[in-house]
Amino acid sequence: MLAKHVLLKIAYVLIGDLDMHRRDLLKALTGLALCPLCARAASSSEGPHWSYEGAHGPDHWGDLDPADRVCSVGSQQSPIAIDASIEARLPPLEIAWAERPDTIVNNGHTIQLNFGDGGALNVGSQTYKLAQFHFHHPSEHLIDDKHSAMEAHFVHRNATGSLGVIGVLMTAGKTNPAFAKIAATMPQTAGEPVKADPGIDPKGLLPAKLGYYAYSGSLTTPPCSETVEWMLLAEPIEVAAADIAAFAKLYPMNARPAQKLDRRFVLHSV
Ligand SMILES: [Zn+2]
Repeated sequence: MLAKHVLLKIAYVLIGDLDMHRRDLLKALTGLALCPLCARAASSSEGPHWSYEGAHGPDHWGDLDPADRVCSVGSQQSPIAIDASIEARLPPLEIAWAERPDTIVNNGHTIQLNFGDGGALNVGSQTYKLAQFHFHHPSEHLIDDKHSAMEAHFVHRNATGSLGVIGVLMTAGKTNPAFAKIAATMPQTAGEPVKADPGIDPKGLLPAKLGYYAYSGSLTTPPCSETVEWMLLAEPIEVAAADIAAFAKLYPMNARPAQKLDRRFVLHSV
């Protein structure tokens, strides 16, 4: 996506007036250093150029960088509030994840666990690989107008680069051993990824039933790309209130507000 963005800018320069577009090109190149994906890949200690409030908050994400425009003009944005859905014979989620993530990082926007080879998610004819999972407080998706305390996002990629994200709602209750381990070992300040505790089994963050809501949407952070098939599990998991509080101490609010449904329908597995 970045390459495409830069190529487009270079194309502008080649076909257009150099002076007029030189600033755009410089901006695009500067954007390479500042964009969240690169920042995450290169150095997460540079600090975010987008945030969840103020002048760089969600209402302004689309204006921060030309590459993030779809954040404000998109028509398939996420998250959404789910109050009506259509029962459908959705394919079951066949999850064969790796038993442990490689690294854990506080990237300045959330706590994230990364995989080299995260194992597979098969849904119907689609095969995805788990790349990472991370957390939001409070939940980003609403069901019947209600937020949950937190939401985990398991981000998968298929061979063509499309994303499939499984969302898991989290409520206060019994201790969840996997989340307790994450809360106990998460880096307290933003910085580089460090080795993850081997006891963090991502499957420990799944509820017993894998019934889900499905809709087409986007990343919920810039660049808000509309390349995500969302699978939000209907059954929440319970985690200890103290572990939610520990996360909330680092990230009191890292949830994008619900976006317009526009011309979409939400399906829900029978
Ligand atoms: Zn997320």
